[in-house]
Amino acid sequence: MSISSPLRRKVSVLGSTGSVGCSTLDLMDQAEKAGTGAFEVEVLTGGRNVARLAEQARRWKPRVVVIAELSLLNDLRDALSGTGIEIAAGDAAVVEAATRPTELVMAAIVGAAGLRSTWAAAGTGATLALANKESLVCCGPRLIARVAAAKGRLIPVDSEHSAIFQVFPADAPERVARLILTASGGPFRKTSLGEMARMTPEQAVAHPRWSMGAKISVDSATLANKGLETIEAAYLFDMPAEKIDVVVHPESIIHSMVEYVDGSTLAQMGPPDMRTPIACALSWPDRLSWPAPRLDLAALGALTFEAPDFDRFPALNLARQALIAGGDAPTVFNAANEVGAYAFLDRRLGFLNIAAVVAETLERATAEGVMSVSDDACEAALAVDARARRIAETIVAQRALAA
Ligand code: NAD
Ligand code: MG
Repeated sequence: MSISSPLRRKVSVLGSTGSVGCSTLDLMDQAEKAGTGAFEVEVLTGGRNVARLAEQARRWKPRVVVIAELSLLNDLRDALSGTGIEIAAGDAAVVEAATRPTELVMAAIVGAAGLRSTWAAAGTGATLALANKESLVCCGPRLIARVAAAKGRLIPVDSEHSAIFQVFPADAPERVARLILTASGGPFRKTSLGEMARMTPEQAVAHPRWSMGAKISVDSATLANKGLETIEAAYLFDMPAEKIDVVVHPESIIHSMVEYVDGSTLAQMGPPDMRTPIACALSWPDRLSWPAPRLDLAALGALTFEAPDFDRFPALNLARQALIAGGDAPTVFNAANEVGAYAFLDRRLGFLNIAAVVAETLERATAEGVMSVSDDACEAALAVDARARRIAETIVAQRALAA
């Protein structure tokens, strides 16, 4: 009997203090304790949570730790005094840290705020473990091309895309008839439109299956998340919108499926725990053994499915239309959705108005014409993002006044 050696990886985690970031470090910790993983950490970055970032840094002893919020530099310095760890602050420092030599970068910053660092990491040749779906939605196939040009590899972390990635015939994509993304349906799956109009941020972030950051939780409640994921899947697997379907699967056990041309459908299953797709991304094409939660299908009894309700969840179709329209439309969709989601979290906007803001921003941005100017795909996307945010903020303000 042979005893396999532990998986050794040098990793950087961008957004280490968030939900995916913490799950990544927890998984690494568990694998080390089980003797199946041995990790070296090059970079950790966080947005504002100094205490958590410092605690992670003391545990993992990275070469560099960056806090995005510039004014927190001294707090981080104090918290890590005597450790000898290099410390930096600010957006530019996050981007610089993303280019430090490493084997794998976990891109887990939330929203368009993660664009520049994800783009920077994509150019290094390191494996890009992509959780920051917004950067793919905004930069599109150019992000994938950048990773390929640098001889790196992009491994999706989003559970649906990790599932498809594991059952997709990369060497013969013509064998694929359809991708089927599963959606939990979110906390308002059975809520009427009248009730949805009155839903609070607390109710929206209370997801029935997944524990996630606030923004993606709101996206799951509006189904904008499944819209972003439709665009993400189209780019990752080079599939047109008409070959990507969504089915609601409340148990979140089947994470997505690939239907082949002969009618056979391959599904990937697992408990609803992000550490499983993260483990896949960290170790691919190997498999990381760790004390993972296991499926007990007999205890579950039944898996159920239903069609999504496009009337109550219009964000899904808006994303699909943006994908079909192409150009800057997915970037505009993403920016308007971020503005809408945060305005809702700040109680400046009603729940149903999130999708209304997205629809109106897409209309206005389209009427104003093509907006990207830069040759650099990342900077072009950020210019569109900024423009779309201004439009969306105006619409939010108008709707707040009207409410
Ligand atoms: P989160 O809000 O829990 O964490 C986000 C991280 O980004 C934190 O470390 C935060 O400090 C950092 N951050 C926020 N704003 C920043 C800024 N302006 N500059 C630099 N850093 C900043 O989010 P999350 O739920 O972990 O999601 C992260 C990404 O992963 C998102 O793109 C999300 O769509 C995707 N994702 C998350 C899950 C999940 O289960 N949470 C599942 C699939 C995909
Ligand atoms: Mg997902």
